[in-house]
Amino acid sequence: MDLNHRSDQTKVSKSQLRPGLTLLATPIGNARDVTLRTLDALRDADALACEDTRMARRLMDMHGITLGTRPLIAYHEHNAAQATPRLMRLIEEGARVVYLSDAGTPIVADPGYRLAKAVIEAGGGLSATPGPCAAIMALTLSGLPSDRFTFGGFPPNKSGQRQSFYREFLGAPGTLIFYESPRRLAASLGDMLAVFDERDAAVARELSKSFEEIRRGSLSDLSDHYAETGAPKGEVVILLGPAASIPPTEDMLDEALRDALGEMSVKDAARTVSEALGLPRRQVYERALELK
Ligand code: SAM
Repeated sequence: MDLNHRSDQTKVSKSQLRPGLTLLATPIGNARDVTLRTLDALRDADALACEDTRMARRLMDMHGITLGTRPLIAYHEHNAAQATPRLMRLIEEGARVVYLSDAGTPIVADPGYRLAKAVIEAGGGLSATPGPCAAIMALTLSGLPSDRFTFGGFPPNKSGQRQSFYREFLGAPGTLIFYESPRRLAASLGDMLAVFDERDAAVARELSKSFEEIRRGSLSDLSDHYAETGAPKGEVVILLGPAASIPPTEDMLDEALRDALGEMSVKDAARTVSEALGLPRRQVYERALELK
């Protein structure tokens, strides 16, 4: 393919689609969330790669974009080894190749990583059209701190492995975000409770769709709720606030004070506990006097 040959320069500058690989973000539920740049890229690409060709065709049909004679190449977890060389050849010839996963941002709990890495290693151009991502939308709606967050992807299916997996996140600062199957939601929340103890949490369901729902509460409330209702319909994201996001209860205060009073003076106990629990010194001191 001739890199310098562009039959329609206007079109190129409109879409700004560059030679190499462009990762396209697509809607996670609401078809109107596709960006103009993503549509331009679908229209202008020399070759299209996608996780599922039917999904890609559906998106293109919806927006009146025809494939014509352009190749539409399946690229997913199971054929990455075979599909990568074919796509790399096109990229090395100067083609503008786009990649879209089934929904949301490719590579985020979706295929595309190995291809993107191969492009980088070959010195090819890598670009992206930003857009929907369930983790980010869930975070923005969760009401949980968003200045720092960790995305954990999908936890394992089995409870024991899931608890070990969750334990790896115990020291992570900020909000934790996990993708989970609705069938395992209640069990997963139960495992989280066992590992993280009580924290603020949220479950975001069916984001951007008609039955979008954000359920916010303590981890134990959410765990109880889904244990009672059973698996909800649709897709879910679990979010867990940082360890200190729940104000200490009276019981927690009393327990900490009793421990401290066993070892130190009222004044020292009040200072130690107020610092540990982030409570006002006077309030803790008065309670310490009552307990003494
Ligand atoms: N690449 C996608 C992204 O950018 O969010 C994620 C793909 S991953 C295979 C699918 C998981 O993302 C679902 O199991 C669910 O946890 C989450 N998800 C995707 N769409 C969602 C939606 N509309 N509402 C809630 N969660 C969603």
